[in-house]
Formats: sequence, structure tokens, C-alpha cells
Amino acid sequence: MKTKEKIIIAGPCAAESREQVINCAKELKKRGIKIMRASLWKPRTKPGFEGVGIKGISWLAEITKIGITVATEILVPNQLIQLIKGIGKKGNLNKILPWIGSRNQNHIIQREIAQIVVDLMPKSTKLLIKNQAWSDERHWLGIVDHVLGSGISKKRIILCHRGFSPNGQNNPLNLRNIPDFEMAQRVKITAGIKMLIDPSHIGGTVPNVLKVMKMAIEHNFDGMMIEVHPTPLEAKSDAKQQLTFKELDKLLKI
Ligand code: PEP
Ligand code: MN
Repeated sequence: MKTKEKIIIAGPCAAESREQVINCAKELKKRGIKIMRASLWKPRTKPGFEGVGIKGISWLAEITKIGITVATEILVPNQLIQLIKGIGKKGNLNKILPWIGSRNQNHIIQREIAQIVVDLMPKSTKLLIKNQAWSDERHWLGIVDHVLGSGISKKRIILCHRGFSPNGQNNPLNLRNIPDFEMAQRVKITAGIKMLIDPSHIGGTVPNVLKVMKMAIEHNFDGMMIEVHPTPLEAKSDAKQQLTFKELDKLLKI
């Protein structure tokens, strides 16, 4: 995927330490990647590491000062309020990209998060939205409609396909989530909104992430969101699927 023509978002599943995220931001900068993912709050299937929370806001502020945009998941509206306040003068609010994840399926909360983007963030701020965990095209399009209820324009939204829960489906590659590339393309066209692919949460393991990327390249995605970590095996979440920077270079050549 050509970094210049597509939206590339790369970075760790979660922000874990200042050193980890700053190191990652510098590695991305070397490669001309302009957006880094790093979540402060993590939704988890079972209780465990739920992110560093507000402690990490100053790290993100520092990254925005390096000139990199930071994409970070917002679970509840108050987290976005805290992030906006915390970035304040220390960072550049123009370089924050909030996102609504797959497990956040309360439309009131989805719309409130979008409302904060409209009311309190710069006009250039975009909102990233991942599909819900189960396969349902109407629901996916419904999320877009609920969010548009905030008055946000379509141009400010970016969608991302992270696959659907396998739930007993035929799954020969043993993927973590099953992609539906055709549905993603239909949603992109029906909604009239850009669509990224997230091979990390579809693949679930490094070899699968590379395989999924090869499959996705045939489809008309506008970019990708990919997990990379300086030392993936030590990652506090999603350790099996995070690429090293060397593996990222291999993926960028696909
Ligand atoms: C993530 O991107 O780390 C994440 C939690 O993804 P999803 O919402 O797709 O499960
Ligand atoms: Mn993850």
C-alpha cells in the first residue's frame, strides 16, 4: 500500500510507556507515516490491562508536537473531554484523531462523542469509526446515521473494517475476525465515506496479518490501520498480532 496515496495509521495497540510511544512516533516519522495509533483506554473481553488512562495524555501531546497525528480510542464522552483539556497548550489539538471502537455500540454514546468533536475540536478533526463486532450491514450503516445526527459532516468521518466475530463460522486460516471485503466496499459506497482496513484485528497473528493484507489489496480500501510495537512480545494487549518495524516495512511493500 503506497504511503503517499493512502491513509496509513500505525502504532501500538495501547500506549504503555512514554518511551514506547515516542520511540514508535520517531520510527513512523522516518517512514513518512503521518498518523500513529496509541490508545489510552482499552476495551477488553475480560478484565486485564485497560490502558494507562489520563497518565498518557501528556505523551500523546508530545507526539503531536513531533508533527504526528495520534489516533486514540474513546469509550465514553468524558474521556474525550479529558483528552481535549489535557492536550491543551502542551500539544496540538489539530493532531488528535478520536475513534469509536467495535465494542462501543450504544448509539447515544456514539453520537455524544461525535458531538464533542463538532463542538470542541478544530474543524479539521476527523472521527474514525470501526465496524461493530458482529456481521450486520444495516447495523454498520446505522452507526454512521447515528453519528451524523451530531451534525458532523461525512467528510470528517473515516470508517475502518476490523472483521466480524467468527462465532462458529468456517475459518480455515483461524483468523481472529472474519473480513467481509464486499460488505465493506458496499458500506463505503452507500455511506459515501472513506474505508480503511485493519488487518491486525482480522489476522490476530503476525503471519495472518500479512496474509490478510495480501487479500485486502484487491479491494478498494482508502488505507489501513495496523498495529506495530517496538517489542511486540512484551505488549500488554494484542501481543501476538503486533508487528515489529521490520515486519511493518515488509507489509508496506505489499
Ligand atoms: C483496537 O484497535 O485495539 C481495538 C480494540 O479494536 P476493535 O475495536 O476493532 O476490537
Ligand atoms: Mn488491539
